[in-house]
Amino acid sequence: MPEIPDLEAIRGFLNARIIGAEVTAAEVRIPYIVRTGATDFVAGITGRRFGEVLRHGKFLLFGLDDGYVMVINPMLTGRFQYVEAPEKKRPKVAMTLTLDGRAELRYADQRVMGKIYLVHGDEVANVPQFADLGPDALVVGEDEFRQRIRKYSGAIKGVLTNQNFVAGIGNAYSDEILFAARIDPFRKRTTLSDDEIGALYRGMREVYDWALPILAERFRDALDYEEWREHLKVHRKGVEGRDRDEGRCPRCGTHISQISPNDRVTSWCRTCQR
Ligand SMILES: [Zn+2]
Repeated sequence: MPEIPDLEAIRGFLNARIIGAEVTAAEVRIPYIVRTGATDFVAGITGRRFGEVLRHGKFLLFGLDDGYVMVINPMLTGRFQYVEAPEKKRPKVAMTLTLDGRAELRYADQRVMGKIYLVHGDEVANVPQFADLGPDALVVGEDEFRQRIRKYSGAIKGVLTNQNFVAGIGNAYSDEILFAARIDPFRKRTTLSDDEIGALYRGMREVYDWALPILAERFRDALDYEEWREHLKVHRKGVEGRDRDEGRCPRCGTHISQISPNDRVTSWCRTCQR
């Protein structure tokens, strides 16, 4: 699932290339993905020029002239590709925009769970799930973080990934944040002390400060569908690496524990996350 570091890298890549570019052609191959209607989408976006790409939580907001916005919620498997000299299309390309008659911005989605909307700027709040988003994880201050978290109970990992609490934290980076904060992902929020909530906030800042430049560098020159997770310290580092050094906690050397109910992987260190 694209998370904040991935989406920020995509945003940086595209902002360096597409601002001012005109959409000279649009093609929707999987109409279901365009929730405001594929025909209206093609008619509405063709001829418009891109402004800046913004992000809130896990939504990308592509500014267009005349106040229009293309909103993309890539969900689990939405991926972007940008090609200067278009070659043969890959399978599962859901939507393609031709820019200035040459470059192509493509959106692919293996599980077809993502959603695309073309709306006017003042209708963005009507996009499903958008109005309910909490403050973005890169923007929220510590006081607000502390205030908001009181409203939530249940396992802390579930709270962190609840987009209404704070927007943008997903399954992979929540494991990294909990590892940085040394907190067990299954602890109930109500059992966390004020110091631990502070550690959680600092862990969140620390993880994003560390991951953002790695992803920005990785996707500086090419945007090619790939999802980059190599740098993560615990998430998905358990099980398969069990007899190798990679399967161990980088802090204390304990084998990383991993479970994946409903395909949602949680990885953590039983020794240094309490
Ligand atoms: Zn450890």
